Amino acid sequence: MTTSFDAIVIGAGVAGLTAAAIVARGGLRCLCIDRMGPGGLLINLGALVDCPDLPAGTSGPDHVASLTDDAMGAGAELAIGEVQSLRPGDVWTVQTESESFTARAVIVATGLGNGRLGIDDEARFEGQGLSHCAACDGPLYAGADVMVAGADRWALQEAIELAETAGRTTVVTGTATLDTADPRIRHLTSLPNVAVLPGRILGLQGEDGLQSVVLDQGGRQAAVPVRGLFVYTDRRPATDFAGDLVTRDEGLRIRVDENQRAGASLLYAAGDVRAGAVQSVAEAAADGRRAGQAVLGALAG
Ligand SMILES: Cc1cc2nc3c(=O)[nH]c(=O)nc-3n(C[C@H](O)[C@H](O)[C@H](O)COP(=O)(O)OP(=O)(O)OC[C@H]3O[C@@H](n4cnc5c(N)ncnc54)[C@H](O)[C@@H]3O)c2cc1C
Repeated sequence: MTTSFDAIVIGAGVAGLTAAAIVARGGLRCLCIDRMGPGGLLINLGALVDCPDLPAGTSGPDHVASLTDDAMGAGAELAIGEVQSLRPGDVWTVQTESESFTARAVIVATGLGNGRLGIDDEARFEGQGLSHCAACDGPLYAGADVMVAGADRWALQEAIELAETAGRTTVVTGTATLDTADPRIRHLTSLPNVAVLPGRILGLQGEDGLQSVVLDQGGRQAAVPVRGLFVYTDRRPATDFAGDLVTRDEGLRIRVDENQRAGASLLYAAGDVRAGAVQSVAEAAADGRRAGQAVLGALAG
């Protein structure tokens, strides 16, 4: 049986929950579907930073609870399922592994996937030393040496968090040039147990969990002993379900216009999945609000 809605939001992170709350509060029947349940990235974050609209120290899970209450309080429905396909027609058909839904409008808010290194053996070490979440897995490495792969602000923020409890924390920044005037970078590099290195990760070693990471630094290779490796590089969206209904940038993120419209009629994208997103809670919420308002405007009357 297919259940019909006015709007379906795919992804229940900040962008999706915010959009769903706006659409439902506007009196439309709205379903928000997520493969994991509500929260997205925020579920795995400790105290959020750079969130001017939230009380200082608000944690990711606390904010998820408030966004979920808001969306459900407004009347949005939540479902768990991984969207496999999106088909146009008189209405959109959204297919998960086990259910089919239709809606007049669809908002894609599926964020970005975990960081990747793109090397052999990566999958073998996933959960065996390789992680993407300092708040969840950092405590496992208290006192042990760890490495962070990535140079964007959130990778560096995670490194600061890890350095509070880890032994030596090595941050491998690839070819990125860090802005040494940035207070976050100044703070990170001032920590006595932190080393920030350019370089490329070539391989992972260890029999029973991770024991060392092979680094290339300008042609010189070395195995650096670490127990935990936190990877934030090359995070990509997974929007195969939208096929060629959308256009994408070189990072596979969905291009939208100023009203979050993603090309096809009554199809929108919001949050980190959107081309040009700066990747922050505030911006994902603003995207979600804009997409929600655009749906209300398009379906009114
Ligand atoms: C390590 C790290 C720390 C960060 N810390 C901060 C911070 O302190 N402050 C700040 O402002 N920003 C921070 N950010 C950025 C911020 O968390 C994100 O910009 C924001 O959460 C993105 O929200 P979103 O809704 O676009 O995507 P997400 O939160 O990624 O949500 C996308 C949702 O879509 C779901 N989904 C994906 N594919 C499908 C599918 N096919 N079917 C169904 N569901 C699907 C996923 O399960 C997920 O729940 C951080 C980012 C990282 C990586």
